Order: sequence, then C-alpha cells, then structure tokens
Amino acid sequence: MSTQSFHPPQRTLMGPGPSDVSPRVLEAMSRPTIGHLDPVFVTMMDELKDLLRYAFQTSNELTMPVSAPGSAGMETCFANLLEPGDTVIVCQNGVFGGRMKENVERCGATAVMVEDDWGRTIDPDKVEDTLKANPNAKILAFVHAETSTGVQSDASSLCALAHQHDCLTIVDCVTSLGGTPVQVDEWQADAVYSGTQKCLSCVPGLSPITFSDRAMESIQNRKTRVQSWFMDLNLVLGYWGGGGKRAYHHTAPVNSLYALHEALVILKEEGLENAWQRHELHHQALRAGIEAMGLTLVVPENERLPQLNAVAIPDGAEDAIIRAQLLADYNLEIGAGLGPMAGKIWRVGLMGHACNKRNVLLYLGAMEAVLNGLNAPVKTGDKGAAVAAALESYSN
Ligand SMILES: *Cc1c(COP(=O)(O)O)cnc(C)c1O
Repeated sequence: MSTQSFHPPQRTLMGPGPSDVSPRVLEAMSRPTIGHLDPVFVTMMDELKDLLRYAFQTSNELTMPVSAPGSAGMETCFANLLEPGDTVIVCQNGVFGGRMKENVERCGATAVMVEDDWGRTIDPDKVEDTLKANPNAKILAFVHAETSTGVQSDASSLCALAHQHDCLTIVDCVTSLGGTPVQVDEWQADAVYSGTQKCLSCVPGLSPITFSDRAMESIQNRKTRVQSWFMDLNLVLGYWGGGGKRAYHHTAPVNSLYALHEALVILKEEGLENAWQRHELHHQALRAGIEAMGLTLVVPENERLPQLNAVAIPDGAEDAIIRAQLLADYNLEIGAGLGPMAGKIWRVGLMGHACNKRNVLLYLGAMEAVLNGLNAPVKTGDKGAAVAAALESYSN
C-alpha cells in the first residue's frame, strides 16, 4: 500500500467533462470547513441559490444543488415527479436519453420512446405526433445538449409542445448550462437538472436543479411516497428550503459548495451572454482548424453544440493510440465516442474555463502533429494549416 500523497499531473481537459477547473475554484475549495448549519454557511447557501437562478434564468423558488453528480439530478427529477403507472414520453438521440428511459422504468412508469438518429437533433414533429397519440402522458423528457454526440435540440419548441398537451417537462441541461442559452422561465420548463463539471467548470459531484411551481404542485399531490429517501425533495427542502429554518437531512458537501459558489461568481462576473458568445467564438475557430486539417464535424451545422465538437475519425487513424499519444506527449485529454459512435468520433470539448484560444491552438497543433507522425499518416493538408485557419477565424 502506498504511503505517498497523490499528485495528479497538470492536464488540459478537452473531453466531454470534467473540464478544466479555474484555480480560483480550487482555492475556494481549500478554505476552512465549517458546519453545514453554521449561520455563515446558511448565508452562503442563500447566495448560491440566487446565483443558480441567474445561471438557469429563472425565478423558481426551488433552485438548489443536489449533493451528487448530474446523474443524481436526473434521478431526483424522475423519482419526485413520477409515480408507478405514469406514462412518460422520452426523446432519445444519444446516450443520455437512454438513461432517462432507465429512470422511468425503475420508477414503475412506462416510457414511450421518440427516437432520432444519433448525431441529429430531436424532431419536434415526431414529438407532437407522439403527444397526440398518448393523451395520458404526464411528462415529456428530453436532453437539451446531447454530450454523446454534440447535438443541441430546440428546448423552447419542445417545452411549448408539452404545454399544449398538458405535460410537464424534464430537461437535461447538464452540458448546456453556462455554455449555450438555457432559459428556464422563458421555455416554461418544469424540472431542469445540470452538472457542475461541464461548462460551469467546477469540480464534479454536484447537480444544480430547478423546479417550477407546477412541478412542485405535482410533487405535493403525489399519492405514493417518493421511493428514494435521499432524493425525496419533501425531505431535502427541510435543509435547502427557504424560511431561514434549516434541519439536518444529510451533511452537505461543504467545501464543494464553496467551489460551486466561486464558479458561479466567475460566471456572473463574465456575464451569461458573454460566456455564450465566448463558447461560440472558440467553437468557430476550432471548426476552421479541424476543416483545414481535412477532418469533418459529424453534426450538421445548425444542430451543433459549440462546447462539444464531434469529429469524425479519419480512415486509417487508430482512435485509442492517438488519444493516448495526445495524453502522453501533450497532457491533453479529448473524449472517445460512446455506444454506436465508439471508434467513429472524437469528442472535443470547449467547456467553461477550458474554452479559450490557447486550448484551441494547442489541440489543433497537437492533433496535426500526432496525425502526421503516424505509421499510416492521415492527410492533413499543409503543415500548420489548422492553427493558421483558427488564427484567421479569430482575426475576422
Ligand atoms: C455528463 C452528463 C450527465 C451525467 O452527469 P454526471 O455528473 O456524470 O453524473 C447527464 N446528462 C448529460 C447530457 C451529460 O453530459
């Protein structure tokens, strides 16, 4: 057994998450641990909820971080809103829609699937047909930003359709929050969850959620108890709810919450609109460089997510070897494809603190060098063409 401290290397994280964490956030995390019922901590919690309302663009009273990663935020939404026998329409165009189906079934409810190709957006016409064909459906659930493929769906239209058919909505905004517009009130979304380690560039392990008054009403009118004690919002709100009274539910992850507070202060300082623009700017430069190298993005242009770029792996390029070389020689992490996309795409993230010019140029230069150094070289155009194209994009 090792008795030495663990010192991780300094990587650049350009995968599907976690993304690079700002030194300010890491510093915040190392501040003294205080009691989770300490009045000073309670004041911080209230600020944190306000900062989350800003990030989500909502005035929802129930807005808080779940003490566990994004998957737990997902499960919190399903566990609280569903009862056995309910029908839920679930859209799937990647990995995470499949996890929604799992959640529905484990709650004893029925999932009616609307399937779209991986790498394409959710088709609102199909959703509308399915809503019409299933008038008993209680909820429409979908992923706004599919991290497995780099696709963005039209959350505003999908929420509007759900409303027309008297359905509540559960929306996965794990990868969109902070990187691309998430407008909870404008969309009239009902239960929205996110994660801290993607475009918020905080440490992994927390899941911000926000619930509309309609969703809260639905929870209060449940006929059965929420089957998960830990995720039952009726109990969790004894700690996180308003009114100044805080009762022990579980020990809050005190230092991780300092980190989230700092990450949200950074977002507020920059301004949401500026953060969205920054993600778009660097995405465009990355795209220019990728194309100059002779590589292609797999998602059609108007369906792309700026913070997650799915690049087709060219013929003759060995996925695992190339990723290992980027990590070994450049301390650079990019993501592999999942499920049917495994071996077919690389996922290049430009999320939060990691979304900057330095990282765009690092990736393009490193990728070109690695591809040129292979036994079976992939044609990458003129040497340096990728970096030059990105610089050109920045100067426009
Ligand atoms: C990352 C991710 C999740 C899961 O979050 P974890 O923090 O890994 O549990 C859920 N949905 C989407 C779209 C994601 O990208």
